[in-house]
Amino acid sequence: MIDMKDLPYDLKALAPTISPETMMYHYEKHYAGYVQKTNELIANTPFENAPLDKIIFESAADIVWAKLYNQAAQVANHEFFWNSLSPKKEDYTISPDLANLIQKDFGSKEKIMEELLNKGLSQFGSGWVWLTLYQDHLCVESTSNADTLLVHPEHKPLLVIDVWEHAYYLDYQNKRTAYLKAVTGKLLNWRFASQQLS
Ligand code: MN
Repeated sequence: MIDMKDLPYDLKALAPTISPETMMYHYEKHYAGYVQKTNELIANTPFENAPLDKIIFESAADIVWAKLYNQAAQVANHEFFWNSLSPKKEDYTISPDLANLIQKDFGSKEKIMEELLNKGLSQFGSGWVWLTLYQDHLCVESTSNADTLLVHPEHKPLLVIDVWEHAYYLDYQNKRTAYLKAVTGKLLNWRFASQQLS
């Protein structure tokens, strides 16, 4: 049985970039639904008492568990996403180590934001856009639907942005560009990214 994790901030905290209404649906309906379905699918299976990362890793290895993998991966992706955003100014500070990598691999933070936007726009359908460390380089990558980088440990995630429509439709309708510009420009938790790196 897995538990819902608390949001690291209030449902209203990310407004006006992300409205309380979006956060309520996203956290209390979508995310809660993934947790609930994961628990339904692990009941009376070898995964019943397993931690989430083990459920994801092992269910990914065999397509008989594909339904479970999708639900469990969505739980982990959302938990990583909540942590990738912050309403607090002090969380927008980049550590010296991360700043060096940004300088080396992208030239500037603005260039990363531009790449996150491009990757997010070119992701067909639903998915996730990630800032990762891959072979000692910072990269911007995307995964489709529920797919998670947790099962690709050589790609270490630093930040993720949800590009499923449920993440932005109430606030931005179909304008994924406007959502991505607002989120990358105003809410990314660079302190969390710095912590992931170290
Ligand atoms: Mn979502």
